Amino acid sequence: MIKYAEFAARCEEIQNRIHKACENSGRRPEEVTILPVTKNHPADAARYAAQAGFAAVGENRVQEAMEKQPLAPEGLRWELIGHLQSNKARQAATHFDRVQSVDSAKLLQRLDIAAAEAGRTLAILLQINAGDDPAKFGVHCDEAEPLLAAALACSHLRVDGLMTIAPLDDDKAVAARAFERLRLTRDRLSEKLGTPLPVLSMGMTDDLEEAVKAGSTLVRIGTALFGTRPGY
Ligand SMILES: *Cc1c(COP(=O)(O)O)cnc(C)c1O
Repeated sequence: MIKYAEFAARCEEIQNRIHKACENSGRRPEEVTILPVTKNHPADAARYAAQAGFAAVGENRVQEAMEKQPLAPEGLRWELIGHLQSNKARQAATHFDRVQSVDSAKLLQRLDIAAAEAGRTLAILLQINAGDDPAKFGVHCDEAEPLLAAALACSHLRVDGLMTIAPLDDDKAVAARAFERLRLTRDRLSEKLGTPLPVLSMGMTDDLEEAVKAGSTLVRIGTALFGTRPGY
């Protein structure tokens, strides 16, 4: 695990990249939030994020997050960004402040019931496979409307917006196209179903510039902040 001073320097670098990307596309840096992704790193990573003033961290697995949460500062928010199986919906609904990876009607129902039982409203994003990548989870853009309609009918879920992971490709135009498509899908659904979908979670270490240009409001950054994940 890197030292805090190195983490702080890496934060500044990422902020500079976001500032530059915003400048290049006429956006304001305040419109883009960084979600530090602490998966595969020790609980120290979450502590660093809190110390640097980040409000939330992203984790891929329910179990891993549950192990770190008692070791992290209270008040830090946790977002699930990895695939969620419906048999873990109950744990996810009680241990996360937002689930970004909702991609089926079955999962919606399970989360809604679990949130109701926990007496809370759970924030979610719908995961969209905007790059039509067979290696990625998420519903296709043309299946997003019925899923959103189902989500809006869940009384204990609040739909904040959409999330996507771009296909891995050396050609950055591939990611750019997927991000653009997610924004267009958001604009279309938002108008059609009459609901604001303010959050567009898109962009990671290698494609954050393309994501910011396409309208990202939330970039999920792991490697650039914490270094290479152990075991990768
Ligand atoms: C791991 C992960 C990230 C962070 O990726 P980096 O390339 O390390 O920045 C972002 N989003 C999701 C869904 C991830 O699983």
